[in-house]
Amino acid sequence: MVVRAGREFLAIPGPTTMPDEVLRAMHRPALDIYSDSMVQLTYGLLRDIGTLFATKGKTYIYIANGHGTWEAVLTNVLSRGDKILVLESGRFAVGWGNAARSMGIEVQSLKGDWNRAIRPSEVEAALRQDTEHKIKAILAVQIDTASGAFNDIEAIGKAIKAAGHPALFLVDAVASLGCMPFEMDAWGIDVAMSASQKGLMTPPGLGYVAASDRAREVHKTANLRMPYFDWTERDGNEHYQKHSGTAPVHLMFAQRQAIDMLFEEKLDNVFLRHRLLAEAVRRAVAVWAEGGVLSFNIIEAKERGDTVTTIKMPDPARLLTYCREKCGVILGVGIGDLQGKAFRIAHMGHVNAPMILGTLGVVEMGLQALGIPHGKGGVTAALNYLGESVKP
Ligand SMILES: *Cc1c(COP(=O)(O)O)cnc(C)c1O
Repeated sequence: MVVRAGREFLAIPGPTTMPDEVLRAMHRPALDIYSDSMVQLTYGLLRDIGTLFATKGKTYIYIANGHGTWEAVLTNVLSRGDKILVLESGRFAVGWGNAARSMGIEVQSLKGDWNRAIRPSEVEAALRQDTEHKIKAILAVQIDTASGAFNDIEAIGKAIKAAGHPALFLVDAVASLGCMPFEMDAWGIDVAMSASQKGLMTPPGLGYVAASDRAREVHKTANLRMPYFDWTERDGNEHYQKHSGTAPVHLMFAQRQAIDMLFEEKLDNVFLRHRLLAEAVRRAVAVWAEGGVLSFNIIEAKERGDTVTTIKMPDPARLLTYCREKCGVILGVGIGDLQGKAFRIAHMGHVNAPMILGTLGVVEMGLQALGIPHGKGGVTAALNYLGESVKP
């Protein structure tokens, strides 16, 4: 007995659901990579990536997923033996730091906790202790996709300033760009990075980096530079230098279409849509949690991300299997420390009320069918919230 048919619905935090318009944008022949259309496609995307990051800095497009793009950032601004400070809030900044360590970078961690966001005051204190300014860069993620933590990047930027520390501030916005405010220049970020397959609604394979003038100054003497990633090479005037070879033409068609859709909706509306749908998810989870089995991974409400919600529960596999096999809804598994102890509902990118309410409905149906104790009426709480918030 199943109630699934048609498309599976991906409620995982990447790759996310792509709009049909984005899929269709790729259904065409490649461009001559020397044509005007190709050059315009490249420069248009470079410009619009800058708009998404809210920076006047230089932008770069790589053929890479998030992990590859992490390396693009590290290799351009670090030198062998440099020390960095990794701000832990789950798994992703840690993973980025591990990549740096394997490249010969000394990694200092500001111990975090899987249940909370980074504390800016702790960042300031750690930096004040580094009186000799041995730390060359600080790594943080805006939303940690594993824990579901939202880190206040603006406040962390202020803490770095308050400490008077010259380290570069490097920020991962893979799970947040195009979903919530990101103000690279205003928040004092030196290098920001993201990737195509989450909030940006495009297939995996494109990585984006934006660099401030300060970062590009440090870059001049960085000795971890690699030919494919190297900003200096990419800053050249020839179009092919922007891609260090053949352009990822079809992925760029897709990204062009997705960004056009975001701009047409207007970023402020896109951010509000994410906030409303995320809160709807949280309202449902809060009710389910009354059953004493499910709980929010992130303890403080204001530290929960608007793109993914991580929900702790023992043995989540049977719930996930039920949702997938019976209803065609794919939920995210717990990863890292939360493997086998949590599941995740993604609400980033191409999401709307029926998708989110449908997903919540399926989770509640699964809880019911499997006899997992939960507070009744999570979906009702979600739609009551949306009904009150989304005015006629
Ligand atoms: C998904 C993700 C990454 C890694 O991206 P991949 O494309 O899977 O390599 C990095 N950081 C964050 C915050 C992510 O959510």
